[in-house]
Amino acid sequence: GKPVCECNTCYGGPDCSLFSPDCAADALRGDPLFLEPFWMQHAASSAVVVAGWHRMSYTFSDDSYISQELETHIRRAHAVARNAITKGKYFIFGGGSTQLLAAAVYALSMNLSSTAKVVAAAPAYPLYKTQTDFFQNTRFEYDGDASLFKNSSDTTANLIEFVTSPNNPDGNLREAVLQGPKVRAIYDHVYYWPHFTAIPAPANEDVMIFTMSKFTGHAGSRLGWAFVKDEDVYQKMQSYIEAAEIGISREAQLRALKLMKAILQADGREIFEYAYKKMSYRWRKLSDILVLSERFSIQEIPPLFCNFFERVRGPSPAYAWLKCERENDTNCNQVLRAANIIGRAGSAFNVEDRYARLSLLKTDDDFNLLLLRLGKLISEDIYTI
Ligand code: PMP
Repeated sequence: GKPVCECNTCYGGPDCSLFSPDCAADALRGDPLFLEPFWMQHAASSAVVVAGWHRMSYTFSDDSYISQELETHIRRAHAVARNAITKGKYFIFGGGSTQLLAAAVYALSMNLSSTAKVVAAAPAYPLYKTQTDFFQNTRFEYDGDASLFKNSSDTTANLIEFVTSPNNPDGNLREAVLQGPKVRAIYDHVYYWPHFTAIPAPANEDVMIFTMSKFTGHAGSRLGWAFVKDEDVYQKMQSYIEAAEIGISREAQLRALKLMKAILQADGREIFEYAYKKMSYRWRKLSDILVLSERFSIQEIPPLFCNFFERVRGPSPAYAWLKCERENDTNCNQVLRAANIIGRAGSAFNVEDRYARLSLLKTDDDFNLLLLRLGKLISEDIYTI
């Protein structure tokens, strides 16, 4: 029979061609579908077929948790992007970067004399708190904003700081806020690709975390990786993965390897050029609309020299960090919601609700609808004043 048409929520009718005018612009999630057309252009070279008998055993049966070949390809991709110094560092896979964030907290909080306080400078990605609270035990607990510990007179506290660079939600490059012998940092570099930021220099920290989700866009594969300088920390993270999962899905690894091979064809630069072009275009379009408004502002990201492009380049962040400037607009997300736009409230990131985050990572349709709704909101505003 005829295939049943699965319409996206904004379209209806027998062949999904009818746009529903009251459809919301959903800019809630960081789902990187902006890369879908790139993979459509590389459909054949990135396709995977896995025979039923293939790779059935546990990932530890060959005495290694990882596919050496995939690791080699990932290191090569970093060499092309010039975004990380991977030489001399241990490599470990996780179920998304999410699992490695927990593994790193676990590893860094072992054998301490007191409970480690886990912190992240606001505005901060919400999952650090969610996950640390969820797994809280006597060794670590979530303690909020890293900036509040900056001038603390208590220099004996063990601190673990999540450093998100570039940051989710605001796209800014960051360094650790805290320093000292009792401070350890986990660098969440999942957006540290030419897609989303200038790369001023290759990252070279002790614990650095990356993910397929924001590099190739394959968030559903749940594959992340970490580079770790210290052997002991690496081994503890490895034991975490072993206890939680035994090992990481072979199918995810096989698919990732195929994607890496497709990326590394020719000189390997195409995905970065594609992603930067698309994300910087989106940022320009959004900025052009917002410049007309006094009601809203977005973050400023200065042009910076980029090690990948070998020139100064403009911003291309994953999210817009919107601020409602009017005194009465204390809940920015509500203002957006009334204009049929779905963002995420500032309080989720540990700051005031005067801020809201809009995802710029989704499909062209999602982004265009967002522009349309924002444009309408702003022009109505201008004419009513
Ligand atoms: N870190 C940051 C800063 C993120 O924004 C995300 C995804 N939104 C993650 C980690 C988790 O990504 P994943 O588990 O898909 O690798």
